[in-house]
Amino acid sequence: MTSEPSVTAYPDAEGGPTRALLEQMIACASVTPEDAGCSELIRDALTPLGFSCEHFDAGGVRNTWLRIGSRAPLFVFAGHTDVVPTGPLERWSSPPFVPTVRDGLLYGRGAADMKSGLCAMVTATRRFLERETLDGSIAFLLTSDEEGPARHGTRHVMQQLLARDVRPDFAVVGEASSVGTLGDRIMIGRRGSLNLRLRVDGRQGHVAYPHRVDNPIHRISRAMAELANEHWDDGDEDFPPTSFQVSNLNAGTGATNVVPGSAEALCNFRHSPVTSATALMARSERIIAKHCPDYVAEWTVSGDPFVTQRGSLTRAAAEAIQTVTGLTPEMSTAGGTSDARFIAPAGAQVVEIGPINASIHQIDEHVRIADLDPLARIYQALLGKLVLASG
Ligand SMILES: [Zn+2]
Repeated sequence: MTSEPSVTAYPDAEGGPTRALLEQMIACASVTPEDAGCSELIRDALTPLGFSCEHFDAGGVRNTWLRIGSRAPLFVFAGHTDVVPTGPLERWSSPPFVPTVRDGLLYGRGAADMKSGLCAMVTATRRFLERETLDGSIAFLLTSDEEGPARHGTRHVMQQLLARDVRPDFAVVGEASSVGTLGDRIMIGRRGSLNLRLRVDGRQGHVAYPHRVDNPIHRISRAMAELANEHWDDGDEDFPPTSFQVSNLNAGTGATNVVPGSAEALCNFRHSPVTSATALMARSERIIAKHCPDYVAEWTVSGDPFVTQRGSLTRAAAEAIQTVTGLTPEMSTAGGTSDARFIAPAGAQVVEIGPINASIHQIDEHVRIADLDPLARIYQALLGKLVLASG
């Protein structure tokens, strides 16, 4: 059978083969949308196990689809190889693309978000295939366009797969989902994100002649105030109530004695499936129209809300985490968006399980070395519950 990676092997208590691969991955400076060789490292670890490899590159983005097995159920490990920019290098305690250990923590950009998740998935898969008989298929969906615009990444791959009628049954995204302790939280859904760019037109003129002006700042302010005070919904057992925020408000000529001709606002809704984007748009425009007879609203959906109903995947995830860590994970929909939003609409059950998220996107990003092997064992236990031949 295939052996562990040929780089320095560590005992499991020191991260084992997951850490060995992770150190190689961190050394790849894969600032979004660069893959920088990360997906080749994963491909080289998986193809000796019998995985086929295909690329669905688009818009300069490297997308990789690795699969073993042809039968259902199709279990997908999904994740991104790109990382966010480092920020000022001089503020890092050690170079961000040189894996560095201090006090049981492995430092480097991408250590938590989300190269450790990907590497633990590789370890889990190899151990599972070495010891067990697969009933179904295991695939890896890798992209280097998650931290950027996310237009040519997972969304594109899912379009290609669906065109071939390839539909994941289960997907596990390795985003850093834990809060204080590995396994204390998993994500089972995400809120939707809806953006509004609103321009309100009025009539420019001298402030001293109010009867000759129509002040768009006054109008847009009243509309924003009513939108901000609106009670959109109550949320539900999985989601908090829908929230509305104004993020930009711009108008004016710079002079105190001129009423401008137009005003513009940028706003964002974070909403649950309780209230659809379409409903939010219609209700908002009714409010805006009350205050602003002359307006242009441009709406963009940056992610639809989704939730994975409690079922075989959430149950398996909770049991796997319980077995490895002794914890019962909180099932959450908090936080920003992730690529899970592109996989869930295909009908897949999707959860996000990964390491502690406290340092993601920050200076001195790191992961606990002692969490690496347990994370791999959680993923392996999931395979054992969902794609293991019985008997
Ligand atoms: Zn991430």
